[in-house]
Amino acid sequence: MNKFEQLGLSESLLKAILDLGFENPTDVQEKAIPLLLEKDTDMVALAQTGTGKTAAFGFPVIQKIDADNRNTQALILSPTRELCLQITNELKNYSKYEKGINVVAVYGGASITEQARDIKRGAQIIVATPGRMQDMINRGLVNISQINFCILDEADEMLNMGFYEDIVNILSTTPDEKNTWLFSATMPAEVARIGKQFMKDPIEITVGAKNSGSATVSHEFYLVNARDRYEALKRLADANPDIFSVVFCRTKRDTQAVAEKLVEDGYSAAALHGDLSQAQRDGVMKSFRGRQIQMLVATDVAARGIDVDNITHVVNYQLPDEIETYNHRSGRTGRAGKLGTSIVIVTKSELRKISSIERIIKQKFEEKTIPSGIEICEIQLLHLANKIKDVEVDHEIDNYLPAINNVLEDLTKEELIKKMVSVEFNRFINYYKKTRDISNQSNSERRDRDDRDGAPRENNNGGATRYFVNIGSRDNFDWMSLKDYLKETLDLGRDDVFKVDVKEGFSFFNTDPEHTDKVMEVLNNVQLEGRRINVEISKNDGGGRRDHNGRSSGGGFGGGRSGGGRREGSFAPRREGSSGGFRSDRNSAPREGGFRSERSSAPREGGFGGRSSSRGEGSSDRAPRRSESFGDAPRPRRPRRD
Ligand code: AMP
Repeated sequence: MNKFEQLGLSESLLKAILDLGFENPTDVQEKAIPLLLEKDTDMVALAQTGTGKTAAFGFPVIQKIDADNRNTQALILSPTRELCLQITNELKNYSKYEKGINVVAVYGGASITEQARDIKRGAQIIVATPGRMQDMINRGLVNISQINFCILDEADEMLNMGFYEDIVNILSTTPDEKNTWLFSATMPAEVARIGKQFMKDPIEITVGAKNSGSATVSHEFYLVNARDRYEALKRLADANPDIFSVVFCRTKRDTQAVAEKLVEDGYSAAALHGDLSQAQRDGVMKSFRGRQIQMLVATDVAARGIDVDNITHVVNYQLPDEIETYNHRSGRTGRAGKLGTSIVIVTKSELRKISSIERIIKQKFEEKTIPSGIEICEIQLLHLANKIKDVEVDHEIDNYLPAINNVLEDLTKEELIKKMVSVEFNRFINYYKKTRDISNQSNSERRDRDDRDGAPRENNNGGATRYFVNIGSRDNFDWMSLKDYLKETLDLGRDDVFKVDVKEGFSFFNTDPEHTDKVMEVLNNVQLEGRRINVEISKNDGGGRRDHNGRSSGGGFGGGRSGGGRREGSFAPRREGSSGGFRSDRNSAPREGGFRSERSSAPREGGFGGRSSSRGEGSSDRAPRRSESFGDAPRPRRPRRD
């Protein structure tokens, strides 16, 4: 019996769950579902977005609905149109083997008469935004006087958005005997007030600590001068080739400006804010879900309810005015058990806000330094090499091979590799060798913070050894599991492996120099699922050494920051055939001479370097603008929720 069966769910729901590929219930599902199935009870569930709460209320509501009765039996209120549609889709998926259940979405910005018609046909479940629902009630287009269930989803968000009156009015037209289930990430006074006014002895369940950020999100800040904010953003993107992120700005104007600059600089970015028409917003969201956009630059209001899985980073380009909002921002990543990172680009004058946020999220931030140009080059190169290794060859190319061979026949394999990689690398290095270090220094005590991977920072003035290893997230490692694996394989102590930074096909980690021989000897003779592990000493130390203040000098997104020492000289590929890889594709590119970003929406046929095209000496600094290409080459991957 699998764990879902133990919760008491019906056959048809279990079948749908199998189709959805959910293997085990999430925490909130495990806690809420049996209670809601067994009892007719009110419930308050404190759960962050991304914890699986839609199914936590969705499965029980579907199971308890009488499908033979066409009356509306359940009302679900959610803060935004976007979320309303997502919940509706999820519920439709859950109920697909349950005959006769109709779920109708009711939200602003679409035809009210069509929605009314859908309801008239018989909608046992209505999922609505409060404003439109109130409108429908006022016009007599909906009857919720017989409902058995009312669910308030993301109640704190709804109240934040000023829906208190609407919610109170709507709830007042529902019967007293119904059950109310309230889901909220936090419990501000207004939410508690609604609970008190409209609920009877609710069972309270909490997932994770109350009011705390999700355990799957790590929080980092980067201290910069105000004038370097944008450059810092670009570097963070460049240092993290697979970034898929929401970048938050404070105002619509900043949102638009940052997105425009990113697009100009060749990144796959777009703006999402309230000055866009609904159709424009829908278009942007579609591209984002389809991953043609890697950096969605958004205001808080516009990004509410964005529920896209696998967002790797939330970037606070500017901190929100209300620090409570930080929680909602960071909740966009680290969903469904995945790890995510919430980054704050911060100036000295804003530093104290970090401590206030820490108190709210009950989690510590880690201070990181903006990666240097050299580190970025290294990461990009490794990524590119990996990409070359992994690219699937389309045999259309066979027709052209004789001609290509003709051109390249005099080159040895080594020369060929060097030249291929240089196509991208020359641009990277040309850009970054001109750039300066933009990291600011914090005088705060946070320097003594632990590293992301939990290693203590005491002493270690000497300089650690940083390694590159050809295993990464594609081998199902995250930093924690890789650290465990390395400690076990190398028989090292709890804190002997640190600064573990996992990329897709490769990773970096540090040890103290006394372990270097052992690491090289043992690890280079280990096989992982039939593949030989290859470990090499990296040219940068990933911040393993501390500066004179005892502060970690890096880590960051990518392999950490160089601490001086051994890196001079080479960004050369570590070795032929290494699975570490030079990266080149898309977004990275600061356009001024830097690597021209290849974006994910770009047609892929552009050769290994993407369509970065040559940028001749003396040519303009402008990379080709990419904005017009959103969606021009949609990738096959489809988000599940769309
Ligand atoms: P939610 O918090 O309801 O927005 O869910 C976040 C994401 O997790 C959605 O994409 C769900 O489809 C997914 N999800 C929900 N429950 C599970 C589960 N038990 N196993 C795996 N994924 C889940």
